[in-house]
Amino acid sequence: MPRVPHSFPSPGFSSRRAVLRGLAGAAVCAAVGPAARVARAAGPITATAVTAELTLLSGAGGNVLVLATDDGRVLVDSGAAEHTEALREALKAVAGQGVAALFNTHWHLDQVGGNAALGEAGAAIFAHEKTRLRLTTGYYLRTEARYQPPLPPAGRPTETFFTEGATKIGAQPIEYGYLIEAHTDGDIYVAFPASNVIAAGDVLAPERDPVFDWFGGGWLGGRVDALARLLERSDARTRFVPSYGPVLGRAEVQAEHDLMLELFDRMVEHVRLGETAKDMLETGVLDGLPRTFTDPYKLLYDMHKGFWAHHNKLMPDIV
Ligand SMILES: [Zn+2]
Repeated sequence: MPRVPHSFPSPGFSSRRAVLRGLAGAAVCAAVGPAARVARAAGPITATAVTAELTLLSGAGGNVLVLATDDGRVLVDSGAAEHTEALREALKAVAGQGVAALFNTHWHLDQVGGNAALGEAGAAIFAHEKTRLRLTTGYYLRTEARYQPPLPPAGRPTETFFTEGATKIGAQPIEYGYLIEAHTDGDIYVAFPASNVIAAGDVLAPERDPVFDWFGGGWLGGRVDALARLLERSDARTRFVPSYGPVLGRAEVQAEHDLMLELFDRMVEHVRLGETAKDMLETGVLDGLPRTFTDPYKLLYDMHKGFWAHHNKLMPDIV
């Protein structure tokens, strides 16, 4: 039986939202046009109008996308924990009342820091089941050599799925699906068909070097498939929201896909030969690409680790 509700409000939902309305105060909808800057910003957070209903908040850790609906706001990601108060302030300048629902594109700390505060205030939290498991049981953070404890119960996903799902909040349809192993093991896209906008978290990396959290389940093969899926479910006018950096057009997503596919094709033979990331860097496996990277060795190291985690897919005779 699907765990995803198809309409709001759910029992008890209205009263929680009413509480949040009080917290939000008399927020006024800013009249904005496409790509126009919203005049108000709280602290380091800047707001950019994507459409009349969608606003991009940047500077709270990862990007936070906000959809205004008649039944409360919908957020994609909740930023880093240290920016939660600033995020709540910034929301006051964005159209809508309260936060009806929050989607987590994945479980990294820059995307789930505000979960507990928003969940406490009544938001339903949507995420892939893998993300719920991580946030509920805790996990080892290899890059920081420590265990990350579970989130408080209020911050844990309440509506999870394995492959894809759809819901409607206010009059706004929302569709979402798994982008398996593209960056972590819990990546999803969140599509807003009425606006032709898709949020895809760290599966898109226009500003920073692409990150492959191989210890957390991401790898280059997953990335190629995920970018192909984003292209399949979009058209020439679709706009995409990454975790860091500005809104992208479809041509930029196509370019990321083509680059990742090229990297996959180049690296796979070197991996078969048993080369290390250092060998590959010296061989020039990154030479002549349409994009350069801030830390080419780290990128190659992480991609190389991911290949080894999927070695049986590269050589069918090895299981
Ligand atoms: Zn991430």
